[in-house]
Amino acid sequence: KTPPASNFLRHIVERDLEQGTYAQRRFAGTPGDASHHAAAPLDTARIRTRFPPEPNGYLHIGHAKSITLNFGLAAEYGGICHMRFDDTNPEKEEQEYVDSILDAVKWLGFDWKVGGVDHLYYASNYFDFMYRAAEALIDAGLAYVDEQTPEQMRANRGDFTTPGTDSPFRSRTPAENLARFREMRDGKHPDGAMVLRAKIDMASPNINLRDPAIYRIKHAEHHNTGNRWCIYPMYTYAHPIEDALEQITHSICTLEFEDQRPFYDWLLDTLCRLGLLAQPRPHQYEFARLNVTYVITSKRKLKQLVDEQIVDGWDDPRMPTIVGLRRRGYTPEAIRLMCERAGTSKAGGWTDYASLDIALRDDLEGKAARAMAVIDPLKLTLTNWREIFGDAPGEPCHAPAHPQRPELGERRFGLGPAVWIERDDFAETPPKGFFRLFPGNKVRLKYGLVVECTGCAKNDAGEITEVLATIVPDTRSGTPGADSVKVKGTITWVGVHDAVPAELRLYDRLFTEPQPDAGGRDFKASLNPASKRVVTGYLEPSLAALAGDVRVQFERHGYFVTDRIDHTAAKPVFNKITGLKDSWSK
Ligand code: ATP
Ligand code: MG
Ligand code: MG
Repeated sequence: KTPPASNFLRHIVERDLEQGTYAQRRFAGTPGDASHHAAAPLDTARIRTRFPPEPNGYLHIGHAKSITLNFGLAAEYGGICHMRFDDTNPEKEEQEYVDSILDAVKWLGFDWKVGGVDHLYYASNYFDFMYRAAEALIDAGLAYVDEQTPEQMRANRGDFTTPGTDSPFRSRTPAENLARFREMRDGKHPDGAMVLRAKIDMASPNINLRDPAIYRIKHAEHHNTGNRWCIYPMYTYAHPIEDALEQITHSICTLEFEDQRPFYDWLLDTLCRLGLLAQPRPHQYEFARLNVTYVITSKRKLKQLVDEQIVDGWDDPRMPTIVGLRRRGYTPEAIRLMCERAGTSKAGGWTDYASLDIALRDDLEGKAARAMAVIDPLKLTLTNWREIFGDAPGEPCHAPAHPQRPELGERRFGLGPAVWIERDDFAETPPKGFFRLFPGNKVRLKYGLVVECTGCAKNDAGEITEVLATIVPDTRSGTPGADSVKVKGTITWVGVHDAVPAELRLYDRLFTEPQPDAGGRDFKASLNPASKRVVTGYLEPSLAALAGDVRVQFERHGYFVTDRIDHTAAKPVFNKITGLKDSWSK
């Protein structure tokens, strides 16, 4: 295995470790403020990263990139990655999402328990501190309550060419502001009546520094703090404080937040200066988000697919959600490998969906057991069976579970007087270069013997219903005569007498466009009508006994998984993960 390629974040972490940037931390908060992270001892030079989802939806492949990056960096450099729920918005958050997010991170192979300490945090536990910090800003003349209407505030913010205009409320005294802010806290004003703004610079070329709002009124119940608060911090104010309280060293986010970094720095430096936080404080670094072709990752649009029943739920195997990818059969290893190979940089771009399939094949090639399965069955009758095998209903055959791994043992199945073959392995009139079954041609039934095609039977509609062939004697695989008859084609099959019927769910890309929602495009216009096909196929008998969520390579077809919800021995259900090589649907 080649070591992971370096990237700018690894360089930054290595620099900080070398220079001991975080080696001596002094936390200046009061013990009360620190109590929530008593679990995060202050005495180490370890780096700390965090994965900070808002619990307002299911995680998707883009989040997998962030998880892999944050947990991966921490693991690589002996650090800790915090699992943090950014639950500062009371309205959209639910326990169901909290549970599914924790489950997804664990499934991807990461752990927020380090050295017996559980690094699971909730931003809403810091509301008290955030409130005190806001009062401290007011005291220092660095925040004010603004009672302009939202429209006035927007108009007075200015734009890239015009500086902003001061609010008439900007010159209030700290005492007036404090009184007003406490009224906000005490529920004396309705939603939207006023906001608390940081007092920075209305002429800043960075519009985010033109007195951003840091607290707003929201009379809403919060899943964690109930009705204790009717004012809530804005994300841009809350996030840096969360990072600082948890002593995050490297706060990694996507490029959209680059313009917010000056405020991140201003806020933390100010709170350090006011003695509420300690140096060294965290720093924010941005990288380009992961965009994957043929999928959409907007929560709103994914929800639309679910609500309009275009897919069968959040864990539909065609969804780019972690639950969907999991049900489809992708492995955590493949997802992590794909994220690593996609790289981490400041330059945006698109990662081809095929890279996930390539990663899956790289992961499963050496691991997944092999088996034969017939997806589009046509009966092949061996007309001289009785002459050769008499009344025997079947002849035992065997094959290695994995061609390179004898330790995985053998699989057993039976050859009989009739076998299922793939419909496209027979041609009445063969196209050029066709080496499989056609009248007069000989092929090997893999792991079985050589047969010679003698013709076919058709129904009244002229459709082929059965292929006929004779066994060429003394050509059993694994016997000295096996090579006595040279054939150009080998086909897969299963015995009609012992094959197991199974529901095969054949999945393909959900969209036909590589960027289904780019440039405001209507993503529903490029839905792939063939993204799901359900057929009944036939499998080697041993496959029915598999547990759910087991991956197998169907020879010649690709990788399949027993559906983790619906598969049973009595009613086997397999999902197609991907083919053996990259091919857009036939
Ligand atoms: P949405 O915009 O769909 O609501 P989000 O990014 O707001 O998604 P969060 O729960 O805030 O969702 O995301 C948690 C973390 O995952 C954030 O740090 C975010 O930057 C990161 N993340 C989300 N999407 C991607 C992506 N496509 N590539 C890399 N990181 C991502
Ligand atoms: Mg979000
Ligand atoms: Mg977000």
